[in-house]
Amino acid sequence: MDKTIGIFGGGQLGRMMAQAALPLNIQCTFFEASESCPSAILGPVFSPEKQQLNAFINSADVFSLEFENTPLAQVDELTQSKNIHPPRQALAIAQNRLLEKNLFKQLDIPVAPFSAVSSLQDLEKATQDLGLPIVLKTATGGYDGKGQFVLRSVDDIAQAWAELGPAQSLIAESFVHFSREVSIIAVRGQNGDVKTWPLAENHHHHGILSHSIVPAPNSTALQPIAEQYISTLLQHLDYVGVLTLELFVTENGLYANEMAPRVHNSGHWSIEGAVCSQFENHVRAVAGLPLGSTEVIKPTVMVNIIGRHPNIADVLALKGAHLHLYNKTEREGRKLGHITLMPTDERELPALCHALAQILPEPLSLTTDMSW
Ligand code: AMP
Repeated sequence: MDKTIGIFGGGQLGRMMAQAALPLNIQCTFFEASESCPSAILGPVFSPEKQQLNAFINSADVFSLEFENTPLAQVDELTQSKNIHPPRQALAIAQNRLLEKNLFKQLDIPVAPFSAVSSLQDLEKATQDLGLPIVLKTATGGYDGKGQFVLRSVDDIAQAWAELGPAQSLIAESFVHFSREVSIIAVRGQNGDVKTWPLAENHHHHGILSHSIVPAPNSTALQPIAEQYISTLLQHLDYVGVLTLELFVTENGLYANEMAPRVHNSGHWSIEGAVCSQFENHVRAVAGLPLGSTEVIKPTVMVNIIGRHPNIADVLALKGAHLHLYNKTEREGRKLGHITLMPTDERELPALCHALAQILPEPLSLTTDMSW
């Protein structure tokens, strides 16, 4: 092996990073509590619970992460002797919604009006200043819609405060009346090169990503705007690696919701659908190698397998279906794998989506608007 990359976290994102690293003769190691994590089959796992941070730091040449809530104290220990990409400041900002929204505002990336909330009085004032409805979110620790409360009337204030008040640091945001949710993924190399994949249109079920359509239909006018926003963030943060920006599409244009300083579920399509995937380009960037083309080979639909496994043979019988399982046990709401549909003739996508919906054990409300 030519180089070793140490990754904080050992979930499916780490697994797919390591799969992309292997053909480049790059080995990955992982820092993760669960010995049977999805990444374990691809490299050694060091455990925070067994105080193996130093051994992990010694195990690799350069570092990255797949777990957004990687403790900053661990990163600080690491950076005394080794480098990590993305940079610490990107991680610190992404871990705190208030810092994140303030950065977007500072960089002229549109966001819904928001205010910091740390008391019941702040919350009452926010409902007056922003106008109802508002979305109250914990500033740190929330994911997949958890740690959130939508307030539609002043009668909701007490309950919202009872549920989220103990978190102490909260953000109240105006409710955005969006027509759809999209994400843009980009990568920046160590030489400052930036490459962007096309916008993905994302559909959620119970707060979890259900499927992504790429390129997002009817997004030609939105693409350059989203590219400008994410490029601004990458330059400002002196970022290296893959960054994701989640956006709302509204009548007044794009509004940024949040960024993820890592490869993203809405980019899994790129393993088959792009010349170079988000995983390979992230590995290339972290290793200081030239970036690959982010050009799309064919339009794709990526569907998550959530909670229960489908019959594998049924999935593989679908034309142009690529199955990725993460070696996880079934549990409600858990991402167990994904399927990328990429038929040679993209006009077959709506019918294939329909056929896939019949096969998956979990209900799937697939849209069939796929007019590029
Ligand atoms: P988040 O954890 O911020 O990604 O939010 C989870 C989901 O809640 C998003 O994907 C949106 O569907 C919804 N959401 C979050 N913030 C807002 C908002 N300000 N207005 C309307 N919907 C929102």
